[in-house]
Amino acid sequence: MAQKHYIAFMPSPGMGHLIPLLELAKQLVLRHEICVTFIVPTAGPPPKALLAVLEGLPDGLNYLLLPPVDFEEGVKGETQIALTIIRSLSSVRDVLKSLVANTKLVALVVDIFGTDVFDVAIEFNIPSYIYFLTNAMGLSLVFYMPKLDEMVSCEFKEMQEPIKLPSFTVPIHGRDLPEPLQDRKNETYKWLLGVAKRYNSADGIMINTFKELEPVAIKALQEDTNIPPIHPIGPIIQTGSSGEVDGSDQCIRWLNDQPSGSVLFVSFGSGGTLSHEQLNELALGLEMSEQKFLWVVRSPDDKSANASYFSVQSKTDPFGFLPPGFLDRTKKGGLVVPSWAPQIQVLSHRSTGGFLTHCGWNSILESIVHGVPLIAWPLFAEQRMNAVMLAEDLKVALRANAAENGLVRREEIAKVIRDLMQGVEGIIIRDRMNKLKEAAAMAVSEEGSSTKTLSELVLNLKNQN
Ligand code: UDP
Repeated sequence: MAQKHYIAFMPSPGMGHLIPLLELAKQLVLRHEICVTFIVPTAGPPPKALLAVLEGLPDGLNYLLLPPVDFEEGVKGETQIALTIIRSLSSVRDVLKSLVANTKLVALVVDIFGTDVFDVAIEFNIPSYIYFLTNAMGLSLVFYMPKLDEMVSCEFKEMQEPIKLPSFTVPIHGRDLPEPLQDRKNETYKWLLGVAKRYNSADGIMINTFKELEPVAIKALQEDTNIPPIHPIGPIIQTGSSGEVDGSDQCIRWLNDQPSGSVLFVSFGSGGTLSHEQLNELALGLEMSEQKFLWVVRSPDDKSANASYFSVQSKTDPFGFLPPGFLDRTKKGGLVVPSWAPQIQVLSHRSTGGFLTHCGWNSILESIVHGVPLIAWPLFAEQRMNAVMLAEDLKVALRANAAENGLVRREEIAKVIRDLMQGVEGIIIRDRMNKLKEAAAMAVSEEGSSTKTLSELVLNLKNQN
């Protein structure tokens, strides 16, 4: 029997990177007869949710946890991601060396932040691919970053004019660029610029989007001869366990008892956190809206919007931060769960009628696949750009607008929830979301654009020698 082709995957730290990379890997294993080795960097004991996701992978999909790296006190967010990758490089080298010696390794796949690993791939002559986990608009920004850095001398949030690119269907203001780009003196900004400059050395870039969702941006990227081949292969969303921890059944049981389309799901992704004051306003806004809700609540953090990114679980009991009497007053129409919910099952449940989301790209794709209209409440990373795209270009989301002090007030929250769940605008948005749902199903059907793109890519990888 012919030896199978292998692909190595190396995700950046964070469930939001790991889950979609695993889903692509599963497709390669189950549909394309490829074996995948997952090289997972760690910074301390692996979280429970991570281990749950890694359990029960199909035959042909193996994983290796790299030795944990250490950091200095207080390292957070993207800096933590950067250091975890950079400090894992020598372990990655060992793994790749062994894979090259023992298997027919045809490619290395990294995600958005992983281009530092290219150096190791080059040593072994392995073609390197990026799986860009967000959208074509975000990818255009990556390629534009070096130019933007040269042209603009101030901080981007001070730019007077919005950025207009052929691939942007809506102009993007400097203030809406991803957070790590907002402090150009910071080391993380310099690291990200370096990461962006290396995108050109990839042998190809897969994106978790589809032609029908971003026709303009994808066309502009594919027609640009200065950049590597672009392969839109999405939407690829979670199919297995979402790293369920206690309470998953409780959510579904509760949803089973609610009327069709009546529940607003409220969740800020795997690591999003609100300030204590904002958490309080959200609770009171939900109550004031008088709509049914299922809220994944995490302990607040007044300093950082992605404080739980690496741990997922709140360190302290999040219920202790809710307004006094809130749980009691809302128990008839609301369910509050700590830290984690089985999001895919929630979004695919008939009772779910809307999703207040932090606009992480996985959450957006999952909502599109299940046709759930959105309230956009971006927190960090590229979420602000995603929110602009959802509300102004695709028009499948309402925005929860912050007051001048940055706080989204309870009255605004209650209004936007009612508009989505009960208003005329909500009906129009739901209708548009359903059309996107159909287009998404088409793209990944047997003859769909994304299916064909991935099949062609795999064929080229198998035939490259
Ligand atoms: N997720 C989940 N339950 C939760 C929170 C998140 O299953 O309570 C999953 C969600 O379905 C998605 C991923 O975690 O697949 C979050 O990815 P996203 O890109 O939306 O946000 P990030 O966590 O990267 O900020």
